[in-house]
Amino acid sequence: MICARRVFRCFRSLERFADRITGAAGPWFVGLALILMSMGTLSFFTIVQPTLPCPWLTTPPCIWIALNMFMHYYYVCTIPPGFVGDPFPLPGSGLLWASPSPSQLSSSSVEIIKARMSRCKKCGEMRPERAHHCRVCNKCVLKFDHHCPVRINQCVGIHNERHFVLFMAYLVLSTLILNVFGFHRALDALGVTLVPWMHAMPAFGFLMSYMLSIVLCLAVFIMLVWHIWGIAKGETSVEAQDHEIYRKVAKERGEASPSTFQCQEPLLSNLFRLFKRTNLILFFNIGLNGYPLYTLLIPLRVMPYTDGSSWARRDGLQRHRGVREGEELTDEEEDEDGEEIQ
Ligand SMILES: [Zn+2]
Ligand SMILES: [Zn+2]
Repeated sequence: MICARRVFRCFRSLERFADRITGAAGPWFVGLALILMSMGTLSFFTIVQPTLPCPWLTTPPCIWIALNMFMHYYYVCTIPPGFVGDPFPLPGSGLLWASPSPSQLSSSSVEIIKARMSRCKKCGEMRPERAHHCRVCNKCVLKFDHHCPVRINQCVGIHNERHFVLFMAYLVLSTLILNVFGFHRALDALGVTLVPWMHAMPAFGFLMSYMLSIVLCLAVFIMLVWHIWGIAKGETSVEAQDHEIYRKVAKERGEASPSTFQCQEPLLSNLFRLFKRTNLILFFNIGLNGYPLYTLLIPLRVMPYTDGSSWARRDGLQRHRGVREGEELTDEEEDEDGEEIQ
């Protein structure tokens, strides 16, 4: 556990360093990501797809997956994450917007309660719970998850987090399909099968796309599982870091609280940790007052279940159990290397 924490801190230091280096280069990284995704897509549709059986059956799902990947990437890069102080956007009515409709998915009844407010000491804005200050954007973001300079060149927050997760899911699916169905073409490109390379794209270009898609598939799959696990637990990436510190403080004080909810949670009861299913339904907003389930399959825009000023929370809890008043982390600690609160 200690080792994992050290590794985690090491990654955080590296991440801060990368923030500085990559901040200015963000748009170039987005351009590069687009070029690489387009190369992979082109490789698949010009070299792999024509060799698949029953093209009338296999082509539509492949186009659908690629479309989802590009559209969610477009959304996650272009939709503002939800800066505190900006007017909260209203749902649109254009073609790209889904219509809210009662879903068949019911979740356990949840209490949506007005969030406590605090003032950010860095930008001076009053912000609700779950908002955090982004040191790259120098603004507070509603339900801040992280700032992603390399892939999307902006923050992941309340408005684009759903697209971020769906983008990762469709990217994993796309690269997996290229890896599995392109295996024999990769052997052709390597010259193992002695089949002459007759495609317009050079064999080297295809091999590069193929190798990159293997790496991406594995790396993004791990990130996707990490994010979905966090969503199910009701915590963002930054909250997961905070909770680690809260647990440590609770443990040092010997304030292990008994489990009173769905699972054993001896040191910290996260205020936003509902049933896993409920947390997932709220995140994707496909519950009773949200959008239909098909919005996970069609790249449409949807609104979050809340405007960020109130949150679904566990009955009877005002703050995380195990955390005393005044102990909540405020982003200030990051400047002090995120070490301890005592
Ligand atoms: Zn701020
Ligand atoms: Zn940011």
